[in-house]
Amino acid sequence: MREAIALANTTPPGDVPVGAIVYSAAGEVVGRGVNRREADGDPTAHAEVAAIRQAARTLGSWRLDGCELVVTLEPCTMCAGAILGARVKSVVFGAYEPKTGACGSLLDALRDPHHLHTVEVRGGVLEAETAQLMSDFFGGLRA
Ligand SMILES: [Zn+2]
Repeated sequence: MREAIALANTTPPGDVPVGAIVYSAAGEVVGRGVNRREADGDPTAHAEVAAIRQAARTLGSWRLDGCELVVTLEPCTMCAGAILGARVKSVVFGAYEPKTGACGSLLDALRDPHHLHTVEVRGGVLEAETAQLMSDFFGGLRA
């Protein structure tokens, strides 16, 4: 998570700071991403989607079997869909996102038993530090 926090700090100015890293089953970093929605003008340019795309390129397969995704903020519905579609094994996230979070807050898409694949989820990891990323960003906007 500390690596993901450091990565989140490289998010382009003006974008909500979010960093995501995909680790292979062997524990190697195979994908990294930051939120670039504003920078790219792309509604799908969330950190998790970027990290999953890079991991799929690195591994040469859309199936990220055995992989773990670590992200500083609770994934949204779109990202939960990408995580399920990629067959990611487990997700570790930092701050909960009560407005858009789809991994326990608003929805619990990753552990919905209706899906063919379910994902192990651990939230609230380094919650104070990851929540601070958000409050620094939104505090800066208000200032
Ligand atoms: Zn998302």
